[in-house]
Amino acid sequence: MAKASKASALRGKKAFAGPPACDKCGEKAAITLAYGPHRFCEKHFSSFFEARFRKTIRKYKLFRPREKLLVALSGGKDSVVTLHLLHKFYSKSNPIEALIINEGVGGYRDLAVGAAAKNCEKLGVDYRIVSFEEEFGITNDELMPLILKNPGLGGTCAFCGAMRRSLMNRYAKEMKAKRLVTGHNLDDEAQSVVMNVFNNDYDKFVRAGAGAGEAAWGFVKRIKPLYETPEKEVLAYASFNGIRHYSEECCPYSWTAKRNEFREMLDDFEKRFPGTKYSIVRFFESAKSKLPKKKGEKRDLAACGRCGEPTERELCGACLQIEKVLNKGALKERRGGKRKFGAKKPCRPTRE
Ligand code: SF4
Ligand SMILES: [Zn+2]
Ligand SMILES: [Zn+2]
Repeated sequence: MAKASKASALRGKKAFAGPPACDKCGEKAAITLAYGPHRFCEKHFSSFFEARFRKTIRKYKLFRPREKLLVALSGGKDSVVTLHLLHKFYSKSNPIEALIINEGVGGYRDLAVGAAAKNCEKLGVDYRIVSFEEEFGITNDELMPLILKNPGLGGTCAFCGAMRRSLMNRYAKEMKAKRLVTGHNLDDEAQSVVMNVFNNDYDKFVRAGAGAGEAAWGFVKRIKPLYETPEKEVLAYASFNGIRHYSEECCPYSWTAKRNEFREMLDDFEKRFPGTKYSIVRFFESAKSKLPKKKGEKRDLAACGRCGEPTERELCGACLQIEKVLNKGALKERRGGKRKFGAKKPCRPTRE
């Protein structure tokens, strides 16, 4: 009997006999993926997961052999799993290092940074830790209450995201990386597509994708090998393979992010119509491939007067944001200020 038909025969039998069986081997399934539907035991789920990870890299031509990869490692499941898989499949062909950013959120980032560093040590991957405090002179714990007091300044995660992207780009260049690897997964990307539509943000919309970022002066291309991988599956893969990551607490400032609304909306759709998130990303990809390339798109970039990052203005986005807070006079209050936005709110990690 052919393998596939043996598995389906076994599955048919098990449908009457007990719990669902793995599509591949007929053993008891450890996970059911509603969009297939697929049912897998731990071993066959891991093979499925790893095959999709590698296929995404090939399909979107995310990097080539020998190109140095710098993984932006938060310590959470997505970036940690990304690091483990890159190490497992590409450490012989590509130099891999990690960058760990400490945004300065007491009781959260310091612990996640520890988890990130432990994973690097376990795999023998060189890493570097940089902090908002040292690089920008301010921690998130100092900055966020000021932003929340002045909503006109923008959202907490947008602020933090701009600062983090600036550091990632700067250190990717300093560490001579060809690609900056992030742990963005299918859920993040589907949310971004819908958010950009709702916000009528065409420029951001067309810049998104598995290989985001610009091929312009001063920018290192950012790549997302988990682009087609649902978030829940990342968690399952980590659990089945004993990959330890930080998952205890969420950032106490995440609850303010507008992205949370989109997350809830898409989670609800996915539950009722499995495959929705993947369809959104597929739609984005086909729309993007049909969009006319803008002419004369070359941007006139120069180094930021403060940090040296590429910008069209005198100061880059991150430095400009900090300047805005300083101008509000709010920074005077920051030292010794209490953190008012503790972890009482629902736990909703987000990624800008
Ligand atoms: S949740 Fe928002 S504020 Fe917190 S670390 Fe992430 S981007 Fe920054
Ligand atoms: Zn199996
Ligand atoms: Zn700057």
